[in-house]
Amino acid sequence: MKKEYIIAGNWKMYKTIKESIEFVEGLDEKVSALPGKEAVEILVFPPFTSLYAVTGKSRKIKTGAQNLHFEEKGAFTGEISPLMLAGLVDYVLIGHSERRQIFKETDADINKKIKTALVHGFQPVLCIGETLDEREAGKTLSTIQTQLDQDLEGLSAEEIKSLVIAYEPVWAIGTGRNATPQQAQEAHAFIREILKKKIDSPGGAENIKILYGGSVKPSNSSDLLSQPDVNGALIGGASLKIDEFFDIIQDAYKLADG
Ligand code: PEP
Repeated sequence: MKKEYIIAGNWKMYKTIKESIEFVEGLDEKVSALPGKEAVEILVFPPFTSLYAVTGKSRKIKTGAQNLHFEEKGAFTGEISPLMLAGLVDYVLIGHSERRQIFKETDADINKKIKTALVHGFQPVLCIGETLDEREAGKTLSTIQTQLDQDLEGLSAEEIKSLVIAYEPVWAIGTGRNATPQQAQEAHAFIREILKKKIDSPGGAENIKILYGGSVKPSNSSDLLSQPDVNGALIGGASLKIDEFFDIIQDAYKLADG
């Protein structure tokens, strides 16, 4: 089966402007030396302060925002409007587990953010995934189903087709304990089935990219990326070091077609 990948780095609250520029320039040098495979898209989500400085620095590295507010303007201290991101980013991360857990974002908030992102022409990368308690209680699949039902509520089939989904089991994020390739594949196949039903047309969900996130590193990336329904990775810790991130990108290059 023809495979295309997105390899994305979520820098969270790390890297100054200077460090961000150095990273993108250093990574650009390395990826520019790779054979030109269009089937691997490289993406970073820097902190807001670095976005302007790094966007457009590399032809090969796209940028995304780690969050956005669902309103265009208003008295929302500390928030970022979609209007402020216009022309700057291609992607927006929505519903990361840290936003859900630490900042108490609800599925209703996430649904509004996805709709706002789409109105403004950004490609949402929607993060979903179960907690350890939910997995141990056998509720992994029902959690995924509930999140997708609520987060995608009211979206048209065309809108759903334009999303990227990141399956990120909460127990695997920043813990060093990744899902096994089999656990990832099972969740990804289930997510694709749900998307198929929501789109309600044959083959409608085949091209939706479903990324795996949670302690991806060079030692496990090849096995995870080889799974049939894994179309890339969303990487936290290992995306902060050029060499580790580049090793994972190289794995995707080896596995991608064209
Ligand atoms: C993340 O922040 O989305 C993530 C997957 O982090 P880590 O790779 O460090 O587990």
